[in-house]
Amino acid sequence: MPHISTGEMLREAIAAGSPLGRKVKSIVEAGTLVPDEMIGEVVAERLSRDDVRMGFLLDGFPRTLRQAEILEAVLGARNEPLTAVLELEIGEEEIVRRLSGRRTCPACGATFHTAFSPPRAEGVCDACGGRLAQREDDRESSVRTRLAEYAAKTAPLSAHYRELGLLRRVDGAGGVADVTERIFGVLGTVETA
Ligand code: AMP
Repeated sequence: MPHISTGEMLREAIAAGSPLGRKVKSIVEAGTLVPDEMIGEVVAERLSRDDVRMGFLLDGFPRTLRQAEILEAVLGARNEPLTAVLELEIGEEEIVRRLSGRRTCPACGATFHTAFSPPRAEGVCDACGGRLAQREDDRESSVRTRLAEYAAKTAPLSAHYRELGLLRRVDGAGGVADVTERIFGVLGTVETA
């Protein structure tokens, strides 16, 4: 199923220098949230495409109660309720450690970590040989701003989705394989085509 990351869509718009990208560049780099109606339009357009008919994974959306309302309106109009909402739980210092060490390859999208998953040659992508880069908002000051935005605007969504019976909380400690297994555990049997 398509993995729809609103952050990734915004980074692509910024890299392309599109009108949307020019509007959001300084907001994304500082680590604050782009306006709800603006990101709502991006998601509504993405969910209007054919490839989401059999399901989709939204990553990083909704991030505010208003965005949850926008999503409910978009899905409600198509009679397609959400199946589950995943909340990954991890301490703040671990988040800072993970994000400040993250390096990505702008050419092919591969992701590395300076300590947990280093590339074979420092600063060079194992997959395509591209030069690795650090996301502007993975610098510690932006990460702290993102955490504050999360606490103020996104954390209230947990109660909203708990009331709807959709919330699935997953311990985010440990490695990728451990967390993946826990996610499949809370989602139940995953059928593949
Ligand atoms: P992410 O890749 O999910 O960490 O998002 C990176 C940045 O993109 C965030 O810090 C925001 O500036 C922006 N962004 C991504 N998704 C949203 C959203 N749902 N609402 C507002 N801003 C967003």
